[in-house]
Amino acid sequence: MIFVFTLIAYTPLESPVVKATEVPDIKVSLDDLDHINHPHMQTPSVIEQIQRHSLPWADFYIPILEMHDFNSNPKTPYTMSPAQLSEEMAFLKSHGFHTVSLDHVYNAIHHNLPLPSRPIVLTFDDGYESNFIIAAPILKKYGFCATEFMVSSFVNKPGFLTEAQLKNMTRSHIWEIESHTVSHSDLTKLKKDELWNELSRSKDDLASIVQSPIHYFSYPYGAYNEPVLRDVERTGYLLAVRTNQGYAHPMTDGPFLLNRIAIHQGLSIADYAKLLSRSTAGN
Ligand SMILES: [Zn+2]
Repeated sequence: MIFVFTLIAYTPLESPVVKATEVPDIKVSLDDLDHINHPHMQTPSVIEQIQRHSLPWADFYIPILEMHDFNSNPKTPYTMSPAQLSEEMAFLKSHGFHTVSLDHVYNAIHHNLPLPSRPIVLTFDDGYESNFIIAAPILKKYGFCATEFMVSSFVNKPGFLTEAQLKNMTRSHIWEIESHTVSHSDLTKLKKDELWNELSRSKDDLASIVQSPIHYFSYPYGAYNEPVLRDVERTGYLLAVRTNQGYAHPMTDGPFLLNRIAIHQGLSIADYAKLLSRSTAGN
């Protein structure tokens, strides 16, 4: 691990220091875990065993924001006005937050790559076209990066991102395009082969569109169970995010159950600041 660390120099935040695929896999094995004194070690459930199998090393908290669609006349909690997003991004900038990619988080978890001060991850679920038309220019203005969790069968559908837009986003190096399944199904209700298909086909189809491997996953409706967790790991994802409201703490939650903070329409900037107060406390 020291060898890897010395190879990876600290570089500006908006470009991933190294793609996760290029980093040697040093995941801990179950045998190794017997030698680690950790609070999760007593009578683990199967879910805990899966978490333990990929127990990360670095101990840090990080806010991973969850957003969806944008519209100047938002009517649902999941659709925000461009003005709200602008105000929130300005808040992050003025309060010294630094956006990081999930590649960066992965490297921080497994390889102790340093995170910047006040790190934050911006994620967008489902793949709405407004992410390209409305959110992308605002992110660019502030020099922020973000992660798009795309539902692969929604590509090119009205209101959703097109192949050309996804390619453009990848080329910009501002966006990571990642998987949010093929059909946005509740994965806990699927048969074994259907579950595998949702995880692996979305991964393959999106990779072929953006010409870049897909490493990260977002559970539709935040729904998961033991078979889902197992297959997320088996299909080769490196990190997965859920919808439990709170800061991600990989050391306790494991890499496949990272918490997020959902941002809804109409949230005041004072309440937005409260959601991020763990980062700004004491300053
Ligand atoms: Zn979704």
